[in-house]
Parts: sequence; C-alpha cells; structure tokens
Amino acid sequence: MGENRITKVVIVGGGTAGWMAAAALSRTMDNLSIRLVESDEIGTIGVGEATIPAIRLFNALIGIDEDEFVRETRGTFKLGIEFRDWGRLGDTYMHAFGQVGRSLGMLQFPQYWLRGRAEGIAGRLGDYSLNESAARANRFARLPQIANTGLDGIAHAFHFDAALYAAYLRKIAEHAGVVRIEGKIESVRRNGASGHVEAVVLENGTAIEGELFIDCSGFRALLIGEALETGFEDWTHWLPCDRAIAVPSENAGPARPYTQAIAHQSGWQWRIPLQHRTGNGHVFCSDFIGEDEATATLLANVEGRPLAEPRTLRFRTGMRRRAWNANVVALGLASGFLEPLESTSIHLIQNGIAKLLAHFPNRDFDAANIDAYNRRVRFDYERIRDFIILHYHANQRTDSPFWIRCREMGIPETLAHKIELFRSQGQIVREADELFVEIGWFQVLTGQNIEPKTHHPMADQLTRDELAGFFADIETIVARTASHLPTHEDFIAQHCAAG
Ligand code: FAD
Repeated sequence: MGENRITKVVIVGGGTAGWMAAAALSRTMDNLSIRLVESDEIGTIGVGEATIPAIRLFNALIGIDEDEFVRETRGTFKLGIEFRDWGRLGDTYMHAFGQVGRSLGMLQFPQYWLRGRAEGIAGRLGDYSLNESAARANRFARLPQIANTGLDGIAHAFHFDAALYAAYLRKIAEHAGVVRIEGKIESVRRNGASGHVEAVVLENGTAIEGELFIDCSGFRALLIGEALETGFEDWTHWLPCDRAIAVPSENAGPARPYTQAIAHQSGWQWRIPLQHRTGNGHVFCSDFIGEDEATATLLANVEGRPLAEPRTLRFRTGMRRRAWNANVVALGLASGFLEPLESTSIHLIQNGIAKLLAHFPNRDFDAANIDAYNRRVRFDYERIRDFIILHYHANQRTDSPFWIRCREMGIPETLAHKIELFRSQGQIVREADELFVEIGWFQVLTGQNIEPKTHHPMADQLTRDELAGFFADIETIVARTASHLPTHEDFIAQHCAAG
C-alpha cells in the first residue's frame, strides 16, 4: 500500500495561493517533499486584501498566532462589508458577519423582524447586529459571546497586505521544510502515455519533477490551462465587470473595521483599510466606461493622498471546467475568478486546499476521487457566484445603462429560485454546505430592497407588545455591548500594531 503513496509535490507559483497551499500541506502531511517554484521577475498579482471569518479556520489549521499574523501583515479587523448606492442611489446597508438578533422557538430572527418592520415596531436590521453596531462605532474586541444573553458576540475576519501575507506564509512553509526554487518556467514535460505532467522545466534547463502538481500560477494557468488545455467556463454574461484600477492611499483617519463597497455608474469601488495604508480599487465593465474615466472616478473617491500610480488589472469571470485535471490541481486565479465584492477569492483557495486534503490522491489518481473533488469545488463556486450576481441584479437604479442592463439580464436558475422563495414569505434555504448562511443572504436581499409578500405564520404567535419587548431587549444589549468595546484603533495598538 505504502509504495502507492505520493511523495513528491510541486507547487507552481508563489502568490497567496501557492504559499497558502505550501503552508497547509507542510503543516498537515508528513512524508511529502514539497517544492515551490516562483519567479520574482513575474511577481504576484499583489491585490487580495479582504477576507471572511472562515479564514480563522485556516489560521488554526496551520497554527498561526492571530496577533502575530495581524502585526506581520499590517492587518486590521473586519466585521462586515458596507454597501453604498447598490439598491438605489443613497442606500446604505451592511452585510455584517455573525448573528443578527436571536431565534425564538423554532423560528429565526429575520421572520420576527419582517413582521416587526411591517407593524412599525422594529428598528433597522443592523440595530440587532453586534457586528454592525460595533463596526459603525469603530469598535472591536474578541468576544465570542455576550454573557448570559443567548446572543453571540463578534465574528471577525481581517484585512491585510497581500504581499506581506505571502511573505508570512512563506516563512511558515519554509520552516516546515518547503523548498523554494526561484526561476521562470519555460516548458512543461508530459508523459506521452498518461498525459500527466512529469516536470516543469526552467529557463536554465533545470527540470523539476513531481507526482502531484498544484497550479498556483495565477491568471497564466500554466499547467491547468496552457499545458492540459482544460476549458474555462465563462460567466461574464452574468458578471460583466472585466477590469479593475487599483491604487493605495494614505489613511485619512482611523482604520474602519469593515470593508466598503461603493457602487459607481459602471461598477463599484472597494476601500480596504490597513494599518499603514488603504487599498482602493474600481471594478468596472469596459463596455460602459473607459480606463481613463474609471481611473478619474477612483481618484475622485479616494479619501487620502494616493501613494502610487494607479494600475489596471484585467480579468474574466468564470471557472475551470475541471479544477483538478489528471495530476494537476489548480488553486487561486488559475482555477477561476470571481470579483472581490464579497471577499471570497482567498476563501476559495482555502476551500480548494481543505478539499484537496480531504481527497488527497494516491499515485493511481483515482477518477472517482477526482470527480468528487471537482463536483464539490464547482458547487462552492456556483453558489458564491449566485450571491455576487444578486448584488448586481437586485438594483433599482435608473441613472446608468450599466445598472439597467444588470437588472434586466437573465440570472442562473438557482438564484432565481432563491429570490422567488424569499419573495414569498422571506424564507432562505441554505443547501448542503454552501458558504453564505441565511442571515447573509437576508441582509443583502433586504438591503437591496427585495420585499417578501409576508412573513412566516409562526411569527404571529407573539402579541405586539411581546414582540416590541423582544426587539427592545436585543437592541439594548447590542448597543450597550458595542459601546463598551475598545476602539478598533486602541485594540490594534494594544495587541497587534506593526512596530
Ligand atoms: P498570483 O498572485 O498572480 O501568483 C502567481 C504566481 O505564479 C507568482 O508567484 C508568479 O511568479 C508565478 N508564476 C507565473 N508564471 C510563472 C512562470 N512562468 N514561472 C514561474 N513562476 C510563475 N481576493 C480576496 O480574497 N479578497 C480580496 O479583497 C481580493 N481582491 C481582489 C481584487 C482584484 C482586482 C483581483 C484581480 C483579485 C482580488 N482577489 C481578492 C483575488 C486574490 O488577489 C487572488 O485570489 C490571490 O491573490 C491569489 O492569487 P494567485 O496566488 O492565484 O496568483
């Protein structure tokens, strides 16, 4: 049995995906020789700075100390994403992580809130979310529970500097035995009979042989795309944005503990606050706006002084038909791309790694195992894709052709069904282990003004006074707890400020 085990793994690429894979495999798998090839001359994409709370599972897997990690990556804490001008111009809502309110009996909070809103006795949804209340007050602490209340505490993720993150992971991986090879890959050698990749060959002629190859070469997709010619499923008819202009700027005030996503006429802008700067970018659709105008829009909406020349990134939304083909598993941009609206790309890398560990192959590369991996990864991509499309599709803006087109475009059936079910009585059904939970969908659906016809009948079982009391209690606890948290700035200064 032992002789069938894979012992030689080659990771192609040293961006976020490559070093995440290297750190995770070296920390969890014994008896593997892991080599990572990257080219300083080619470099990395250098964006990818906002995350979701699931990243904490990855940190735990590789044994990261959270304060050290935030310090080394000049990170900040993230409690959610604020969306501005998405439904209508002037609208603001937050997709806050964590719990909102609490369930009562068998019924979840959103159903009571729908009834309370219809009767004029419920406040804003965010008033019942500790994450949103803390975010709006610029406060943060690690607080898993609000004691003696039945309410969860804070759920957090991070913003960090992508280049520092890769460097930090590299230290961990090299310490665990990963060997880094500097050089540009010029060709790929394949086995004539099986078609499997046998080696990558550098410009200087060195061949790096392996049994399992992990393609983390970014948009180039050197192995999965160029060598194995695995097709790409294009989703630009649903997510038409194809470019981003990115520019860092000085911080204009204390770093906010949340990401901002501000809709513009033909796309949207991110603001990601770090300890030493703010990351900004304008994602847009080149059918509707040129690069010069998109750059001008971004620069007009950057809060502090720009710290570099704006740069353009081009992308195509979609995924590889098979993320795992033969003996090559693609992770990161080589496996597909979904725009950073809900900060899911790094999560998809983490997810690909977790599933690769679960389906780690033997030398025979069993087809059933590979199929299972591909099916699971596809499911995750498609459900996240649907969530992102929702933000574009559910808009009422009339001020630009871009938004009208997004509203009028066809959408995937899976998403259409979700919206229809929600319109009926505010229900959301989370299938299998899809990433975004019911309350996340609920915040975006209501934030973008999709109105259910009614609420679930069980929410009528409370009297109006009981319901008002239920809301008042939660609101008071949330507001009081948020006001007692340290400021985000003080928390960082005390625990994890870069020196
Ligand atoms: P890259 O960083 O491009 O790395 C590719 C590696 O392959 C490099 O090391 C390169 O040297 C190497 N390589 C390539 N060709 C060769 C060769 N011939 N020889 C040797 N080495 C080679 N994700 C999030 O989670 N949150 C965000 O907020 C976010 N924002 C984003 C904004 C934009 C505009 C874009 C485009 C992406 C964003 N992402 C975000 C996605 C995120 O940037 C990527 O998922 C992540 O950085 C992973 O990149 P990568 O490692 O796959 O590729």
